[in-house]
This record gives sequence, C-alpha cells and structure tokens, in this order.
Amino acid sequence: MEEKDVVVIGGGPAGYIAAIRASQLGAKVALIEKDKLGGTCLNRGCIPTKTLLRGVELIGLVNKAKHYGINTGEVTVDFAKMMKWKDKIVKMLEVGIYSLMKSNTIEVIKGRGELTSATQVEVETERGEKRTIQTKRIILALGSIPASVSIPGADSPGVITTDDALKLPQIPKSLVIIGGGVIGVEFATIFAKLGARVTLVEMLPQIIPNEDSELALSLEKSLRKDGVQIFTGAQVIGIEDNPNGVKSVIVSTEQGERRCETQLVLIATGREPYIEGLGLERIGVATTKDGIKTNEKMETNIAGIYAAGDAVGGILLAHVASAEGMIAAENALGKNSKMDYKVVPRCIYTMPEIGTVGITAKEAERKGLPVKVGIFPLARNSKALILGEQDGFVKLVTDAKSGEILGFHIFGPQATELVAEAALTMHMKGTVHEILSTIHAHPTLYEAIRETALEVQGIPIHNLAKGGRLS
Ligand code: FAD
Repeated sequence: MEEKDVVVIGGGPAGYIAAIRASQLGAKVALIEKDKLGGTCLNRGCIPTKTLLRGVELIGLVNKAKHYGINTGEVTVDFAKMMKWKDKIVKMLEVGIYSLMKSNTIEVIKGRGELTSATQVEVETERGEKRTIQTKRIILALGSIPASVSIPGADSPGVITTDDALKLPQIPKSLVIIGGGVIGVEFATIFAKLGARVTLVEMLPQIIPNEDSELALSLEKSLRKDGVQIFTGAQVIGIEDNPNGVKSVIVSTEQGERRCETQLVLIATGREPYIEGLGLERIGVATTKDGIKTNEKMETNIAGIYAAGDAVGGILLAHVASAEGMIAAENALGKNSKMDYKVVPRCIYTMPEIGTVGITAKEAERKGLPVKVGIFPLARNSKALILGEQDGFVKLVTDAKSGEILGFHIFGPQATELVAEAALTMHMKGTVHEILSTIHAHPTLYEAIRETALEVQGIPIHNLAKGGRLS
C-alpha cells in the first residue's frame, strides 16, 4: 500500500496551500483533486469574475478617454473573445499551481478521494483505477457548491448558477439575479455594463446585507445608474415559463407582486459545503449544517483529521480558506497554530469597488462600544479626480477612548487594494494615531485614509471644516 505523511483532499485555495505548507514542514504529501487545481476560486469564482470585471472596466475607461483628449472609435464587445481571455488567465494560473506542486514535490492525484478510515484514503482516479493511500494525517479541503433553492420553477431551463454564468455563449438580453450579496452584485455589475437588462432581487432590506448601510446605499445608487433594477426586502416566489420563450420571475414586494420578464435567471443565494459521499459519517467526523465542525486549530473531532476552507463554513472567502489551510497543515505537522478571524478584509468587486474590514458603526453600537467615526469624500482626493473616479468615500470606525481602528469601509476606485492598509493597521492593533503619524505619499488614493483619520480627530485638512472653522 502507498504511504504518505499527509493527504489533502481538494485542490482549491485551502487544499493546495495546505499541501505546500505541509511539504515545507517536511511531510511527504499527496493532493487529491477530482476536477481542476485551484478549485472554485480559480475556475468558477474569484479569478474568472475579476477577469471579466477588468474587461468591463476597460469599456468604461475607453469611454472616458475623450475627457483626456483621446479620441477612440465606438467601443464594441466581442463577448466570445472576452470569455476566451478569461479562460486564458485561468489556465495560466492553473499551470502556475501545478508548477508549485512540482517544486514542492507534492504528488497530485487526479480523482475523487474518499475516506475509508481515519488513516486511509481511497481514490478513484480519472482513469478509473482505485488507489488506496495510508496516511498519518488527512486535511479535508472539499469546498462548496451553489446552494439549492426551493423556489417553484427554479429547476427549469434558463435558471442558472454562477458556474453556468461563467460559461455563457452570449451576453443575455436580460437577467434576473436572485440574491443581492457579494456574488449577486458582482454579476449585476458585469452583465449590466455589458448591456444586459439586469434586475436584482434581495430578500433583506439592503443589498450586501452584512455591510455598512451607507456602502450598500451608495452601491445601490451606482448600480441603478448602470440601469440595474433593484428590489430589496423582496422575495422571489416563483419562476414561470411564458409561451414566447421568456421567463417570468414573480417577486413579492412590500408594494405587492411584480412580474419580471427575463431571458435568464441567475441564482446567487449562497453556497453550501460540498461534503456528501466522502465517508465522513462512516468515520464519525462531526458536521453541522454549515459544514465540517472544527476548532480554532482546524482539527475535526477525529484525531489526525483536519478540515479547512468553504467546507467548514464560516467566512466563505478564498483568503480565509488559504489561512485555514495553513493552520491545518501546521497543526497536522505538530505545531500549535490557531485561526484568528478578527481581521478579515472583505472585497466587493463592483464599480466603484468596496473594501471593508472590521465592524460597522452600528455593530459597535450594538456591542455597546463608544466610537468615533470619520468620513472623507473621495471627491476631495486629488488622485481620485486624476483618475476621473471621485464617487465614493472612506469611513473609519474607531474606539472613542483608545483610537483603535475597529472598522474601515471604503467605496471607491481600488478599494479592494486600499483595504490592505487598514487590515494591517488593525492586525497590529494600530490606532488612528498610527495612521495620522504615517506620511502618506501624494498624490495617492490612500492619502484619503489619513484624511479620514484627520476627520476622526476633528482636524480635517482637505475637507471643509465644520461650521467654516477648524475645531
Ligand atoms: P474550493 O475552491 O471549492 O475547492 C475545493 C476543491 O475540492 C474543488 O476543486 C473540488 O473539485 C475538490 N473536491 C471536493 N471533493 C473532492 C473529493 N472527494 N475528491 C477530490 N477532490 C474534491 N472569494 C474571495 O476571496 N474573493 C473573491 O473575489 C471571490 N469571488 C467569488 C466569486 C464566485 C462567483 C464564487 C462562487 C466564489 C467566490 N469566492 C471569492 C469564494 C471562493 O471561491 C471560495 O471561498 C474558495 O474557493 C474556497 O476555497 P476551498 O479550497 O475551500 O474550496
């Protein structure tokens, strides 16, 4: 029988990172992947969506070029080419992961892994062979799949998942997106900017329901500007087929029922752990409805078995999955590492983008924390004006006494990059004073973060002083 020190099942951002870390710590590692290395993130998630978003961003940039004295012809989109370019980027990154595996001497086994005991994994390979691997440690990094919904008509043709949306042959004429969370708003941005008539339906009172309400309202406004029709506090109660080939989505709103005619319906209501048929019950690995149960060391209830990524529930983000994969691998190799979820940047790739970390002012209020909040409009940041992207703002939520940064929320260009400054400051338990006393380069977007810190302190420099004079 073949033997390994560590077997990782699942080659997404949790699994392949865990495999690399385990190998770095001296283990003989096998990584089992039934589909493509990179998992959801690379093949059906982060990377393909952001590549398409870069494409639609370019449409906006070219259209804006005339303001800078650059004349271009009419902008047209070759959607098939756009999709091919996306596939090319995905492929390049997949090849990159293979070379990482090779350079770390990790054996990649293509096939479906199943646990036959707490120390044995069986793989049915792509070629139909069965391989049994004896191992000291197992890391389960199985990921997630689009959650099923119980809406009548949701199983009819023309109702698609996000996986399908990334394989469409043409830009749909119209699209109803069910779910106004992070994934829903990203797809709304892509298809609205490509000219589809997009409707977004969110059950909760605001889109991106877990985020700051001012961010949500600003995003709502910018999506509406792109022609997206938005229903919040609304529920899809049925999807019907019409004789003309068009679908009707029946939406229950506070004002009554609305029928939205559409070519396609995209379900973006969330994801569920992909843990069926893995043999978890056989071995007694504890699960909840969110996924595999783990502690802060990513240990399951069975000694020697660890789990990481979307399969354990919690925050379903690639960087969280990778962090958990690292922790799982380190503990599998005898270290004592723990996950800390306090500072997790959350990025929303809309136009403008959103970058956020920590808590909102409302959450702080609910926790009884006295806070001081500063807001700085990007219209007063020179780089935003240079870029022609001055819509947006930065908001800092700080502890009123110590000045510690509790939350950072930005709506604006490159927000998903700018959030890094706040994340690092928060991780180092930095305060508004550290941001203030750090010289920020000019002209940059991140100067706006320092300006927001000045707002918190009541000494704005590039914003009008309240009441016309500085306090
Ligand atoms: P996955 O990436 O799902 O990988 C799990 C892998 O395990 C899969 O490849 C699967 O084939 C394999 N597998 C499962 N069972 C077996 C088995 N029995 N045997 C062998 N192999 C198996 N996150 C971000 O941080 N930023 C983003 O911008 C972002 N955008 C997203 C956009 C979309 C449309 C979607 C759907 C998700 C997005 N995410 C994003 C979320 C991100 O993709 C996931 O959080 C991340 O992929 C989770 O990583 P994972 O390794 O846990 O699981």
